[in-house]
Amino acid sequence: APVILWLRQDLRLADQPALVAACHDGPVIPLYVLDDEAPGPHAMGGASRWWLHHSLHALGEALHAKGSRLILRRGRAEQVIAALAEEAGAVSVHAIRHYEPWWVEAEKALARTLDLVVHDGNQLAPPESITTGAGKPFKIYTPFWRALSHHMPPDEPLRTPAKIPSPSAWPKTETLGSWDLLPTKPDWATGFEDWTPGEDGAHHRLDQFIGEAADYEAKRNLPSEEGSSRLSPHLHFGEVSPRQVWHRVAGEGGGGSSGGRTFLGEIGWRDYAQTILLQYPRVGLRSTREQFDTMPWRTGKAAKADLRAWQRGRTGYPIVDAGMRQLWATGWMHNRVRMIAASFLIKHLLIDWREGERWFWDTLLDADYGNNSVNWQWTAGTGVDSNMFPRIMAPLSQSEKFDAADYIREWVPELRDLPDKAIHDPEEAGCRPEGYPGKLIGHREARERALAAYATTKG
Ligand code: FAD
Repeated sequence: APVILWLRQDLRLADQPALVAACHDGPVIPLYVLDDEAPGPHAMGGASRWWLHHSLHALGEALHAKGSRLILRRGRAEQVIAALAEEAGAVSVHAIRHYEPWWVEAEKALARTLDLVVHDGNQLAPPESITTGAGKPFKIYTPFWRALSHHMPPDEPLRTPAKIPSPSAWPKTETLGSWDLLPTKPDWATGFEDWTPGEDGAHHRLDQFIGEAADYEAKRNLPSEEGSSRLSPHLHFGEVSPRQVWHRVAGEGGGGSSGGRTFLGEIGWRDYAQTILLQYPRVGLRSTREQFDTMPWRTGKAAKADLRAWQRGRTGYPIVDAGMRQLWATGWMHNRVRMIAASFLIKHLLIDWREGERWFWDTLLDADYGNNSVNWQWTAGTGVDSNMFPRIMAPLSQSEKFDAADYIREWVPELRDLPDKAIHDPEEAGCRPEGYPGKLIGHREARERALAAYATTKG
């Protein structure tokens, strides 16, 4: 009987344990289900849909080259799979395990009617296997990473099967075009074409980075440099596995250098976010620290206008505006700037972090439930791992410290002609050009407002 290979955020053929196992079991029906229902408010955002379109296209071609096909269906995953199994006479399903709460639920539901075999494959190590001496999951990154490091190196990546056995008759498939995944908003996504979704694109990106990995430590915090790997959307969609990345970087990419080691530690943050998801599946929906349930976040007309200004990069803080415009145009933002822009929304504008999480969810090509929520809560100080709300980051000094002048010139053309010393804070330097907005709020005033709001939550 044919076997269903259920593909989700693992759109690759190499190091694909579910594919390898399915090929052993019988003819394989590779299936992708677009499920906009189960994730509720975390149905895939606009930028992710663009990526998905191109990644599925690439995967379809790669499967074709192996004598196989990609079947596309829409609907509630467990129902679609059960219906397809009935239609095709399949009794078993192979899939890679995912930790988003809606996938955990779908796996449970499916396992009630079919023989579902889930494989580990999208983390360096299964998060439930990394525990404290007392067998408890970790809450804090550093001890988690230390414990994970003892499990490294990960196993060698698996090879792509030479041939994928086909069923005698192929089930019907929907067409990718009919899913309308590509953006329609006029001025959006102008820089998306620089990305190459799909497994080949992922390996090309990794090849490029290998040569530069040793400099990662020195350059990764500088937004004006291309110092990080930009593998995040490829990793999110599973076009390359973390263990493939690990072996390439440790083997050839200066794995022994401090740059290589720091980089592997960042990959470890992905695993850490999954450990948090296992313990706090609602991390994307509410503050983990209950104290923040009574936080007087700003709402109403003025707050909405500020939110809009933040989204479109018109806050009057050049580093924040550069980041938000980079995000809108390219679907990606530099990590240091993500922290600055997120902190600015939460603390300077006193807007609930969930508004920011939603915007990132819609506009990031690498939007990832675990990574996005955990990082938003970490920045806000509402998460399990930090209690840093009162530490108010100063965006303008960050901008100077990390030498963001050229980055600002690239993304905020109104400021292009300002000298380095004025570009971080044109208003203060007395040279704000007419077309560039004044600050939504001054730093000192914002700081006092945030601390006063925080003080009311302590009961
Ligand atoms: P590199 O520095 O080259 O790192 C390599 C890989 O390690 C990344 O591709 C990513 O998979 C992982 N990684 C690095 N830093 C982190 C981190 N802090 N947390 C989790 N994984 C990490 N990352 C996402 O993948 N998806 C998100 O939705 C997301 N939302 C974020 C929201 C906020 C507010 C912040 C502060 C960070 C967020 N990040 C998110 C983490 C980080 O900014 C990106 O992973 C990184 O900028 C991606 O660029 P890169 O691939 O060049 O990273």
